[in-house]
Amino acid sequence: MAEIFTGSFTQQEPIPDEAIAAAVAVMRHGRLHRYNTAAGEIAETAALEEEFATFTGARYCLAVASGGAAMRLAMRAAGVGPGSSVLTNAFTLAPVPGAIAALGAVPVFVETTPALTIDLADLAAKARPGMVLLLSHMRGHLVDMEALMPIAEGAGLRVIEDCAHTMGAAWNGTPSGRHGLAGCYSTQTYKHMNSGEGGLIVTDDADLMARMVLLSGSYMLYDRHRAAPGPDAYATLREDIPNVSSRMDNLRAAILRPQIPLLADRTARWRLRHDRLEAGLQGIPGLHTIPRPPQELFVGSSFQFLLPGRDGPWIDGFLARCFARGVELKWFGRRTPAGFTSSHHSWRYAPEQALPKTDAVLAGLIDMRLPLTFSLDDCDQIARIIAAEAVSNAPAPAIPARQGD
Ligand SMILES: *Cc1c(COP(=O)(O)O)cnc(C)c1O
Repeated sequence: MAEIFTGSFTQQEPIPDEAIAAAVAVMRHGRLHRYNTAAGEIAETAALEEEFATFTGARYCLAVASGGAAMRLAMRAAGVGPGSSVLTNAFTLAPVPGAIAALGAVPVFVETTPALTIDLADLAAKARPGMVLLLSHMRGHLVDMEALMPIAEGAGLRVIEDCAHTMGAAWNGTPSGRHGLAGCYSTQTYKHMNSGEGGLIVTDDADLMARMVLLSGSYMLYDRHRAAPGPDAYATLREDIPNVSSRMDNLRAAILRPQIPLLADRTARWRLRHDRLEAGLQGIPGLHTIPRPPQELFVGSSFQFLLPGRDGPWIDGFLARCFARGVELKWFGRRTPAGFTSSHHSWRYAPEQALPKTDAVLAGLIDMRLPLTFSLDDCDQIARIIAAEAVSNAPAPAIPARQGD
């Protein structure tokens, strides 16, 4: 009998006891809204912002309702509006072009390299002064930031980083989210800190921060923010910026604060699991893992590999055989969106764009979640199953590969 993996690819670790206790305390006093504080009380949300600013080394931090809200606020504060063209990675997830579309702006997709990062030559070709680049560190793969930033600055771009998969990561010692004008993070369950839903934005720019605080819905209570500029920054803006209600609440903030000190340990444990899988998938004909540059401190909360040269029917069979053995893989080359793995072809609210390099990469790109609930032995077993099925031509089993989640 072929071995079968029985773990769950969608099971994250539980919320730490300290975070549960903090959440219960907020529910007991009932002041869940971030501006509902007792005399002298510092709201959990304001404390979270201070602590996350310190964690990233940023001057300012704003907690918001989601990663998508973080990107919308940062772009809007940077002047993106109806009709603006916004550069972004062609290889990313739907909330990224969705955030651009939500502002009435138009995504301009930049090609993807086989390292799964943004193609710098294509970026330089498509850049126009004044544009925003919403740079998505998709699946935690960091582009050479020391090469990208001079290109962006030379072309007059402002860079907003989508760090949904790089919270805790760094390029050559600089935390992800700290190269551009602003860094946007998600605290949704599948990311590196878990509050169900939630988002964080960091920046050093006082004007941008003041605009984001007002946009988020601060009801002129911006002086309650601690990781934010003083009242002068709001003086000329306060009646001109609409309230688009995107706040975080104290319950989520209470759940998140105790998770910040855990990020370094989580990163180390994710890295062990990632490296174990990578080691188990070396030397398999037709299967390429993604090389990671030495400057990249990555988190490894998911795993990707390429099957170049395999056609769609073969990949469908491979996915079905792996699934029958308990290994849930996703394929970014599928033309119809399947769960998280949609591609630029299915974002029809954006103008259709020719992206041959990206399509060539996506055609063979396989993606896997790597929850921390997997042991290292689990990773070895998953690698053995993938390795065996990657060189098999057995017919697909009757159970179809799951399309969703
Ligand atoms: C999850 C995710 C987001 C958005 O985060 P939400 O909190 O779900 O809105 C943005 N970019 C990428 C790449 C993501 O995976």
